[in-house]
Amino acid sequence: MVSEKIPKKIVVLGTGGTIAGTASNAADNIGYIAAQVGVAQLLAEVPGMQAVLAGCSLVSEQLAQVDSKDMSFTVWQALAQRVSQHLALDDVQAVLITHGTDTLEETAYFLHAALPPALLNAKPVVLTCAMRPASSLSPDGPQNLLDAVAVALTPGAHGVVAVCAGTVHGALEVQKNHTYKPDAFSSGDAGPLGYLEEAAVRLLRNWPLALIEQAHDVIESIAKSVQWPRVEIVMNYAGGSAAVVDALLQPLPGVPPLRGLVVAATGNGTLHIELEAALRRAQQVGVRVVRATRCANGRVLAAAHAEFAHSNGLSPVKARVALMLALMDKC
Ligand code: ASP
Repeated sequence: MVSEKIPKKIVVLGTGGTIAGTASNAADNIGYIAAQVGVAQLLAEVPGMQAVLAGCSLVSEQLAQVDSKDMSFTVWQALAQRVSQHLALDDVQAVLITHGTDTLEETAYFLHAALPPALLNAKPVVLTCAMRPASSLSPDGPQNLLDAVAVALTPGAHGVVAVCAGTVHGALEVQKNHTYKPDAFSSGDAGPLGYLEEAAVRLLRNWPLALIEQAHDVIESIAKSVQWPRVEIVMNYAGGSAAVVDALLQPLPGVPPLRGLVVAATGNGTLHIELEAALRRAQQVGVRVVRATRCANGRVLAAAHAEFAHSNGLSPVKARVALMLALMDKC
């Protein structure tokens, strides 16, 4: 029997960001408005795209058009649904997402934790972005898009990754660590997954694997969730106190009750004595408390008797996403 080769495609979901931003002056890389140009136009303007695609087709959908500082659960809900629908199709090689840099790491972790493991371990989901608007004298978006397509077509690639400035980062580690430079992301002490060299990936580490076990069918819980569990982040600092946590525990009209708190602790999870007492009180009234660190590198190495759960190496913003997903089926 002759096996028919199904023509492959990459689906690109546009969500906005600086990559789709415009300024009135090409020399202005900061005074722009994000999320102005449609994803189809961004893709059409990348020189050399057809050569990198090598016969694979590119299909785009404008899923949202937002500055990612305003990223919402509604967009995440739509993203999780569309990405999993597309990944499940035989003719889809990969899903690529254009995204703002500000909250890219949260969306990357959200998808890593929410998408069905069987799909994630078979195909890549590639987030890409830009630090300069599309109207810039020297925009970084087109090269990032080209690199993201190259990653999407790399044999064996799978899992949620971010591509920026010629570097491939895993969803677990990626973190924005610069306010201005085009190379704005780091994978901390884990290091990047690889680098892009003329549309070829030089892989340094294995492609990311999905979480071994999901507590429940996360995609289903997300689809059903009208109201996401409220989880806030508090920080430890010199002169800290109980005031912020105590205020967060107070009921407010129209605001869902607090279900969880992530504390961006100092160093290896240390807490001001007053903040620690307030977190203990919060835990006693049923609020889940998770301890992460405000340090950019390293993880909280928990003592065996630690009274607060630790974030398993996740940064405070990613630990918040993990806690929301864990609490989701208990709403
Ligand atoms: N505020 C922009 C965003 O996150 C920044 C960027 O994309 O670089 O959408």
